Amino acid sequence: MLKSDTGQRHGIENEYNDRVLCNLTAICQRVLEPLREEFGPIQITSGYRHPDINRLIGSSDSSSHIAGFLDGGTKAAVDCEAFSREISNLQLVHFIRDNLSFSQVISEYWIPGDPHSGWVHVSYDSIDAANGCDCLTASRVDGKTQYSEGLPEA
Ligand SMILES: [Zn+2]
Repeated sequence: MLKSDTGQRHGIENEYNDRVLCNLTAICQRVLEPLREEFGPIQITSGYRHPDINRLIGSSDSSSHIAGFLDGGTKAAVDCEAFSREISNLQLVHFIRDNLSFSQVISEYWIPGDPHSGWVHVSYDSIDAANGCDCLTASRVDGKTQYSEGLPEA
């Protein structure tokens, strides 16, 4: 959740604060733990990012992955996949949509027919009532990322 390979490569510490820790604790309890109970171990490929590290990987300053550190924001975001090869990333996004409270879930670069393509981005606001449960699909069209409302069904 706090380890950054990109930060280590560039000699930047993934510096965080108490707000970030509170936000990460909330997403663990309300999103990741229910996912683990349903699907077994969950692999986190990206969690909190210091704003400098977030910029290095080309992500925007409005990303939920940096929330809390500079702005005191109450969201946290993780990119994840199930460890089990039996569980597709589509199963994860559908379970989140149908069972959990969350700020946003994005099916990232899912390719129909390839169960392990892409990954799941999910964010959670530690002020539970602020979670709007937005569902989006990110896909690559002519080399550019396009977002559309809703999740793929298959
Ligand atoms: Zn993400």
